[in-house]
Amino acid sequence: MGGGLGPIPYQAKLFSEFVPVAEMLPLAQAVARVFARLGEKKNRARARMKFLVAQVGIAEFIRLVREEREKLPYDPRWTSYLDEAVAFQEQLLLPGSAVDFEGRSAEFVRWARINAQPQRQPGYSTVTVFLPLGDINSEQLRGLARLCRRFVRDTVRTTVEQNVVVRWVPNGSLPDFYDGLVELDLAQVGAGRLADITACPGTDSCKLGITSSRGLAGLLHQKFNNGLGDLADRSDLKIKISGCFNSCGQHHIADIGFFGSVQRKGNHVAPVFQVLLGGTTKGNASAYGLSVAKVPAQNAPAVVKRLADLYTNEHADSESFPEFVRRLGKARIKEELKELTALPSYEENQDFYKDNRQPWDFHMSTGEGECAGEVVEQSEFLFEDADRLVFEATLAFDEGRQEEAVAKALQAQTKAADALLVQRGLLLSDKYNTIEKFRKLFYETGEFYAPFAENFCRAAERGQQDLGEELTRRRLEEATLFIEMAQTVYSRMAGAEV
Ligand code: SF4
Repeated sequence: MGGGLGPIPYQAKLFSEFVPVAEMLPLAQAVARVFARLGEKKNRARARMKFLVAQVGIAEFIRLVREEREKLPYDPRWTSYLDEAVAFQEQLLLPGSAVDFEGRSAEFVRWARINAQPQRQPGYSTVTVFLPLGDINSEQLRGLARLCRRFVRDTVRTTVEQNVVVRWVPNGSLPDFYDGLVELDLAQVGAGRLADITACPGTDSCKLGITSSRGLAGLLHQKFNNGLGDLADRSDLKIKISGCFNSCGQHHIADIGFFGSVQRKGNHVAPVFQVLLGGTTKGNASAYGLSVAKVPAQNAPAVVKRLADLYTNEHADSESFPEFVRRLGKARIKEELKELTALPSYEENQDFYKDNRQPWDFHMSTGEGECAGEVVEQSEFLFEDADRLVFEATLAFDEGRQEEAVAKALQAQTKAADALLVQRGLLLSDKYNTIEKFRKLFYETGEFYAPFAENFCRAAERGQQDLGEELTRRRLEEATLFIEMAQTVYSRMAGAEV
C-alpha cells in the first residue's frame, strides 16, 4: 500500500503476505475509510494515499486499517459476487497446437520469436501486437477485433507499455494470425525490445506537458530505422518518457527514463529532458531511476546511443543495467554525457529551440493537464533545481568534498527560497536579495517553520566553509528538510490561490 510515482516516487509497502479473497472488498473498504478520514483534503496534489502512508508510517497505517475493518458491519455483497466471477473466466476457442517453422518466411520467424511468448499451457502463445507510440487507428482496431474472434474469441488486453496483448493463440495458428496482422499493418517486430518505448501524451495533447514526449519517442523510432538500427532489437534496455515530472510515462521505473523540462538561454527557451537511469519494475520497483543529467531534447537520441554503448562495452557478466549504473556511479556517467548536456545559443543552432517533430519554435504554455497534476509553474522548476543541487551536495559529500557539499546545500536552499518568493510575486529578473526577502516575507512573518528558517539564514551568513564531516552531514539534512518545508509552504500558498 501507499506506492506511486509522480514527481517523487514512493515504493509500495507490504500490508500482508496473504489476504483471503473474501477479505478483498472489506479490506478495500477499510482502507478507503481510513484514507477518507485522515487523507489530505485541501491540497489536491497531496491528496494521495502514498502521502498518508508516508506520514503515519506503514505500521500505524496497518493498525488503523485493521481497527477500521473490525468496525465494519457484515455485508453479504463482500462475497456474493464470487459465484458470478467464474462466468468471467476466458473460454478457449481453439485447441492448442504446434507450429512448424520449416519453410516459413524469415519475417514471420523473427516476429514469432520476439512478439509471441509461449504460454505455460502447452500449445498456446501470448502475442503482443506492438504499437509504436501506442497508436492504432479505428480500422486497425476493427480488423484486430475480427482477427481475434477467429482465433481467441473476444478478450484482448491493453498493456501499460501501450501495446495490445492477445492470449491463447494456438501455436499452429500463429502464421495465419501473423498474416492477418500484416494486412492490418500491425505486424511490427519489437515488443519488449528497446524500440518498444513508453511515452505519455506530452505536449501533443496534455496541457501540463512541457516537452513532446511522443516527439522524442517518434524521433527515436525514426533513428532506429535509420542510424541506430543496431539498438532497436536490444532486450536488455527499456526507455520510458514523460513530458513533465508528473511521471505518467513512468520514467522512474525504466532503465533509461526521460522527463521534460525547460532551459532558458538568453531570450530563448529550449526543451530539455532530465535523464534518469537505473530504474526497474522488478522487486516491487525496488530501484527508482537516478537523475544524472539534463540534456537538450535534440540530444536525447545521442544520449541513448552513448549509454547503450557504455553498457555494452563495460558491463560485467550478467550485470543488469540498473546494477551497472549503480556500480559505475552517477559522477562517471554524468561525465560520459557531459558534451551532450551543452545547450548552444539560439544564434548558434536554432534547432535546439524546437521540440522534436514540431516545426515551430518551442514555447511554454501549460494549463489543466490530462492527469490530476498541478499547473507547472516557475516555482516548480526552481524546486527541481533545488533537488538537483542537494543531490549534488550529497555526491560531493560522498566523495569527501565537504566544502563543496556545504556550498551546494546552501545553493539548493536558496533555490527553494526563490521558489517561494516567485510564488509570492517576485520576479527572478529583479535580482533581489534572496536571504533578505525570505527573512522578511517568510521567517519574520512566521510563515515558515522557524528552526528550519533559522538554519538557512545562519548558513547563508556563514557562507562556504569546511565544517568537518559531522556538521556537513547535518547541513545536508537541514537543507533537505528546508526544501521539504518549502514545498509544503508552497503547496499551501498554491492551494490558497486556487
Ligand atoms: S502531466 Fe502526465 S501526461 Fe501530461 S505531460 Fe506530464 S507526465 Fe505527460
